[in-house]
Amino acid sequence: MEIQFFLHMQVTFSYRGGMTSSVPELLRGAGLRRTPTRLAVLARMELLARPCSHAELLAIPDLADLDDITLYRTLNTLVEAGLVHRIHGIDGVWRYSTQPRSQPGCPGNHAHFLCNSCGRMSCLLSEPMPRVAVPEGAEVHGRHFLVFGRCASCAGQQKAAE
Ligand SMILES: [Zn+2]
Ligand SMILES: [Zn+2]
Repeated sequence: MEIQFFLHMQVTFSYRGGMTSSVPELLRGAGLRRTPTRLAVLARMELLARPCSHAELLAIPDLADLDDITLYRTLNTLVEAGLVHRIHGIDGVWRYSTQPRSQPGCPGNHAHFLCNSCGRMSCLLSEPMPRVAVPEGAEVHGRHFLVFGRCASCAGQQKAAE
């Protein structure tokens, strides 16, 4: 299993050009052990390049063997190491995304759109977070701007069914 992921990642990253670090290098750079689970989860998230929930990740065949707790722990470790960030949905579900390097992904600091029908979250890269003045002396630990509704595909399905 480990070898397969390694081969896959080599292909992925050489295809993207030499500018980015490989997944194993990222883990090493963050001081994390390169476990097969971390490698697999991070590599998949890089390919998805959008915020995905725990359930969406578990639905991917490569990751379907992971149990809930292992995936939670892995994601938390990656978040703590600064390799992944998370975005909260109006549905109460956190979505996780890799930090960007030179490839597309979620660089943060922008609004997101959540489809309440299919649960897919997209990055609104051209909609930067507004600047918000907070009370003097307050510390800001995060910002959250979510637009929600139905994605084009779900809205289209609804129209077709009507
Ligand atoms: Zn994003
Ligand atoms: Zn949708």
